[in-house]
Amino acid sequence: MEDCIFCQIAARKIPSKMVYEDDALFAFEDINPKAPVHILLIPKAHHASLNEVPDSESGLLGRLLMAARKIAGDKGIAAQGYRIVLNTARDSGQDVFHIHFHLLGGRRMTWPPG
Ligand code: 5GP
Ligand code: ZN
Repeated sequence: MEDCIFCQIAARKIPSKMVYEDDALFAFEDINPKAPVHILLIPKAHHASLNEVPDSESGLLGRLLMAARKIAGDKGIAAQGYRIVLNTARDSGQDVFHIHFHLLGGRRMTWPPG
């Protein structure tokens, strides 16, 4: 997707602070962090949101979660805890329509979310 900012980040056409990459996934620091650790994890393939991920691609979602867990470990926040957020469509506040998990940690989270 030429006009998708996260596709361009995954293709390294737009710079980012990359923290993880494999054949299907890319993870990078959020440009406007909401916690001491705030990483975005995306599939390299473009899907606008969870609503658009085909059933046949469900394995990608597991891979994203396992990568988030690994990054949490690498960042030293696995034991104290972290939050993974998947905003989906308008009411969630999703701004970028390339599916992404937020990995947030390094501080105590509040509940319920806003
Ligand atoms: P959403 O609201 O769609 O769930 O989250 C989008 C996230 O992407 C926001 O936290 C925002 O700070 C982040 N973001 C938007 N544009 C860029 C960018 O160009 N680079 C990086 N690293 N993060 C971005
Ligand atoms: Zn995209």
